[in-house]
Amino acid sequence: MFTDTHAHLYYPEILDSLNEILERAKDSGIERIIVPAVDLGSSRKILELSEKYDMIYAALGVHPCDVSKNEISTLDEIEILLDHEKVVAVGETGLDYYWDRSNIELQKEFFTRQIKMACDHSLPVVIHTRSSTEDAVSIIETTAADNPALKGQFHCFSGNADELGRILKLENFYISYCGNITYKNFDNSETVKNTPAERLLSETDSPFLPPVPFRGKKNEPSYMLKTLEKISEIKSADFKKLSETISGNISKLFF
Ligand SMILES: [Zn+2]
Repeated sequence: MFTDTHAHLYYPEILDSLNEILERAKDSGIERIIVPAVDLGSSRKILELSEKYDMIYAALGVHPCDVSKNEISTLDEIEILLDHEKVVAVGETGLDYYWDRSNIELQKEFFTRQIKMACDHSLPVVIHTRSSTEDAVSIIETTAADNPALKGQFHCFSGNADELGRILKLENFYISYCGNITYKNFDNSETVKNTPAERLLSETDSPFLPPVPFRGKKNEPSYMLKTLEKISEIKSADFKKLSETISGNISKLFF
């Protein structure tokens, strides 16, 4: 049994064929999908989907690339929604210095506030980083020092060996990789190799980053097994055993 911990299933081009996408996910052995929000509108939409489809669970929050389009008070409205029974995380939040470096302080404000929401509601935090892993790890280290129960996921991890080492020291934090690890130009295999199975989660980031041989298509949860196969190949690990360990990690963190 598999779980896709990160699939944006609410974009219009996906919604049109959601029934088929979920059927293909089930056929490939995926039983749960966590859908992360990027803002208040998507948070509400995900809750609707989670009420309609048993296998869909929700992560609610504001994405770092969307902070400039939102007031910080949006998070008050999202916080009220966290009590919904299908909510399993806060996010996705984090820092993105690749697309926009002009609003770093605002990104940090949204990130810090969402970490606090996660602490207050005993939920894990789903973290996006791009060219910003160092700062995100530092913020989590500082907060975790005062909140030992803080837990979460560094999704689509692209950090270096040092950042990986620091995350592994944070007991309740996990790491996941997307389909780009199957691309020819992927140059971070050492990091994948050095991520212990006990700290790994599975995800797609659908509709983005489809693994080989689905490049050029919209990514979807059923493609996740190709990424898992690649991880087991890089780690020289038994696929079945690795998948079972990952499933255990996901149950521990989210369910
Ligand atoms: Zn995402």
